[in-house]
Amino acid sequence: MDSILVLSPVEGDGSLSKPAREAVTAAINLSKSLGTKFSVGLWGAEVKKAADSLASSGAEKILGVAGAAFAEARFAPDAAAAAALVKQSGATLVLAPSVARVARVAGALAQRLGGAVDTHVTELTAEGDKVSLTRWFYRQRLTGVLSRAARPWVLTLDPGIWAPYAGASGSASVEAVACGAPASKTKLAGLRAPSGGTQTIRPDADLLFVAGAGWCKKQADGSPHVGEAEKLIGGFLAKSQASLGGSKSMVDQSGEGQTISFMSHMNQIGQTGATPRHPKGLATCCHGEEPHVVGWRFVTERRAVNLNASCGWAQGKADVLYVADAFKVVEELNKLI
Ligand SMILES: Cc1cc2nc3c(=O)[nH]c(=O)nc-3n(C[C@H](O)[C@H](O)[C@H](O)COP(=O)(O)OP(=O)(O)OC[C@H]3O[C@@H](n4cnc5c(N)ncnc54)[C@H](O)[C@@H]3O)c2cc1C
Repeated sequence: MDSILVLSPVEGDGSLSKPAREAVTAAINLSKSLGTKFSVGLWGAEVKKAADSLASSGAEKILGVAGAAFAEARFAPDAAAAAALVKQSGATLVLAPSVARVARVAGALAQRLGGAVDTHVTELTAEGDKVSLTRWFYRQRLTGVLSRAARPWVLTLDPGIWAPYAGASGSASVEAVACGAPASKTKLAGLRAPSGGTQTIRPDADLLFVAGAGWCKKQADGSPHVGEAEKLIGGFLAKSQASLGGSKSMVDQSGEGQTISFMSHMNQIGQTGATPRHPKGLATCCHGEEPHVVGWRFVTERRAVNLNASCGWAQGKADVLYVADAFKVVEELNKLI
C-alpha cells in the first residue's frame, strides 16, 4: 500500500502557494481512494504558518525543514531539503506542485531517492492499490494514463486542476527534520521581470487576457495606435491582475519592435504556444483561428471582442462575442475597474 507525502516549499511570507494547496486537495482525494493517510513536507525560512493553515487537513504528520539557508529558491538547498523530507516520511508517492522551484529539483530528487519522476500530472486515480496518473503529451494533443512500479514516485501536479485546500487554520505541530544546508554559490541578487519591466504571465490569475495583432493594425482613421494600445492593455493588466496572452501574429511582431513592449514569445497562446488553465478568457483584436484557439482548450469561459461579426470566435469558439472596437471596450473597462 502506498503512503503519500505532499511536498512543497513555502512562500516568502511563510504561506502555502495556491498550487501547493491544490496538491493538498489531490492528496486528500487520493488518500481517501486508497484508504491510506497522507503527510506533508514543507521547507523554507519558516514553515509554521504554512503548517498551521493545514491544521484541519487530516494530514497524519507535518514535517519541516526550516532555516535561513532554505528561504531562497536555489537548487542545492532545495534538493537537499526535499530529499530529507521524503526520506524522513518514508512515503512512496510524493505529490508536489508544478511550480518553478519544485520543477527545478524534481528530477534530481527522484534520482537521489532511487525512484522515478513524472511531471505535468493532471489527474490521479486509484483502482484498488494501483495508482495511475493522467498527463498530456505532444503539446497537449495526446493524453496518456500511466502507472509505475518504481518507488518513491515523485509527481509534479499541474496547477489549476484541483480546488485549492482552504480548511480552517489552527495550531499544527511540525516535526523538524534535520538537514544541513549544502554550500551553494548561488546568491539571490534581486528580481528582474522578463520584458519591459512588466511581469505579465500569471498562471494563477482568474482571467487570461489575450491581445491579438489587431491592436497594432491600422484603425478606422487609417493609422495604427500602438502607443495607445500599450497604455490601455498595460492599464487593464495592472488593475485586473489578469495574465497576458498573445496570438502568434501579435508576438511575432515583437521581434520587429512593432508591438507593445511587454509582449514576447513567452506570451503566445496556441498550438505552437502555451495552453494555460484560467477560469476565464477574454480575447481582444484576435481573429480566433484554430491554431490559436487550441491553446484555449482548458479555459473554462471564453469571451472575445472583435470588430468582425464573422470572426473565428463567432464560429462556435467563444461563449460570448462582443462585436465592438476593443480600444473603446478596454478604455471603458479601465474606467469601471
Ligand atoms: C502550424 C501553425 C501553428 C500556429 N500556431 C499558432 C499559435 O500557437 N498561436 C496563434 O495565435 N496562432 C498560431 N498560428 C497562426 C494562426 O493561424 C493565426 O494566423 C493567428 O492566430 C492570427 O493572429 P491574430 O488573430 O492576432 O491576427 P489577425 O488574423 O490579423 O486578426 C486580427 C483581428 O483583429 C480584429 N481587430 C482589428 N482592430 C480591432 C479593433 N479595434 N477592435 C476589435 N477587433 C479588432 C480584426 O477584425 C481581426 O479579426 C499558427 C499557424 C500555423 C500554420
